[in-house]
Amino acid sequence: MPNIHTTKSSYKAPSSIQGWSWLPYSSSSYLQTLDSAISLIDNNIKTNKSCNQAFKKLPSGRKFSDIWNDSSIWISLDPSNMKDKYGATLSNKHITLTAYTLKMGKWTTAATLIHELAHVGGALNTNTDAEDVLLKCLLRGLHDPNIIGGLINGKKNNSSYFC
Ligand SMILES: [Zn+2]
Repeated sequence: MPNIHTTKSSYKAPSSIQGWSWLPYSSSSYLQTLDSAISLIDNNIKTNKSCNQAFKKLPSGRKFSDIWNDSSIWISLDPSNMKDKYGATLSNKHITLTAYTLKMGKWTTAATLIHELAHVGGALNTNTDAEDVLLKCLLRGLHDPNIIGGLINGKKNNSSYFC
C-alpha cells in the first residue's frame, strides 16, 4: 500500500503549488478515515480482476496491485475544505487528499485515492480515464462522469494533475 505522510515520516513532501498542499496527517480523525479507506482497498479491491485490468490499460501498463505495492508513493493531506476539490498527484508519486474528501468518509476517500493512483498509472487530465477506473474497481456508485480535472503548472509532461 502507499505510504502515509505523518509528522514522523522522513519524507520530503513537495512544496505547496497552485493552492495545493502536501502536509502530514496530524489529525487522528483524518488518519482513521484514510486507514479505513486503505483497508477497504486492501481487503476488497486490490485483487479485483477487472480493476487490475483497467489499470493495465492505462499508459504505464501496470496492474492496480503493482501500483498499490509501489513503495515510492506517498499520501499527504491538503487542508482545503472547498467543495469538489478532492485530490492531486504530483510527479507520479506525491498524492494529496483534501479535508473535504476525508470528511466525506472512507468510500469517497477510497474512490479519490484510486482516481489519483490512476494518474500515477499515467491517466491524463484530458479525458475521463482516471475517474473511469472507478467503474471497474467496485466503486461504480462514486463515479462522477463530469470529473476531468486539470494540470498543475499547466505543463503537459510533468505528470501532475488535480481532480
Ligand atoms: Zn484526476
